[in-house]
Amino acid sequence: MEKTAAIVKQYGATGLRGGAFKPRTSPYSFQGLEKQGLELMRTAADQVGLPCVSEIIDPNHVNLMHDYVDAFQVGARNMQNYGLLKAIGQTQKTVILKRGMSATIEELLLAAEYIYSAGNKNIIICERGIRTFEKALRNTLDLGAVAYIKNKSHLPVIVDPSHATGIRELISPMSRAAAACGADGIIVEVHYEPEIALSDGKQSLNEEGFKNLMRGLKPFIQAAGKTLAQ
Ligand code: PEP
Ligand code: MN
Repeated sequence: MEKTAAIVKQYGATGLRGGAFKPRTSPYSFQGLEKQGLELMRTAADQVGLPCVSEIIDPNHVNLMHDYVDAFQVGARNMQNYGLLKAIGQTQKTVILKRGMSATIEELLLAAEYIYSAGNKNIIICERGIRTFEKALRNTLDLGAVAYIKNKSHLPVIVDPSHATGIRELISPMSRAAAACGADGIIVEVHYEPEIALSDGKQSLNEEGFKNLMRGLKPFIQAAGKTLAQ
């Protein structure tokens, strides 16, 4: 975690994500280190001076996670977990709300309304690809949804090109496409050595990959009036 945090900080990341409670499709896959994972992530984030976000999968974890994270992520599998949405709606922590894999844009925006109407207005929408007939990529990145939501709501929208494609070579081009259609940011999987990652190594970028990604995004970042280290 510390090695990866140092890499992403060096090349210009503005936040750190780490999964401590992981919603794995198979119960036999690595499930996360839970509280210990939160501690590791908080330590790594503080070392490099970045805010951090981690996925919440259970309303009963709000109090525990509140002390460690700067933002909650609601993953695709929990986009319509209304008890969870109401619980985090009662906090003031930023929420990254990911689109469910088979959710319409309307369902996504109504899920955001659950958080908003409970009192938490700090919501970032995340397009992470949807399920279609197409099997070559892990999911189908719906960039039309990004442009649509940017046009229809005031909420910031980010894109997750890692889960959207499942293929590390596609992360850079789809990130540039996301920036071109108005996304406010990306959330991307990075590992200092993807070959030994306990989760999603095939779609994780190493240091070189992340450096190249950020280099390719530089014109968009500058156009947005931001500066990028390196
Ligand atoms: C994640 O972001 O770690 C994740 C599991 O992605 P998703 O919920 O989009 O499948
Ligand atoms: Mn993942």
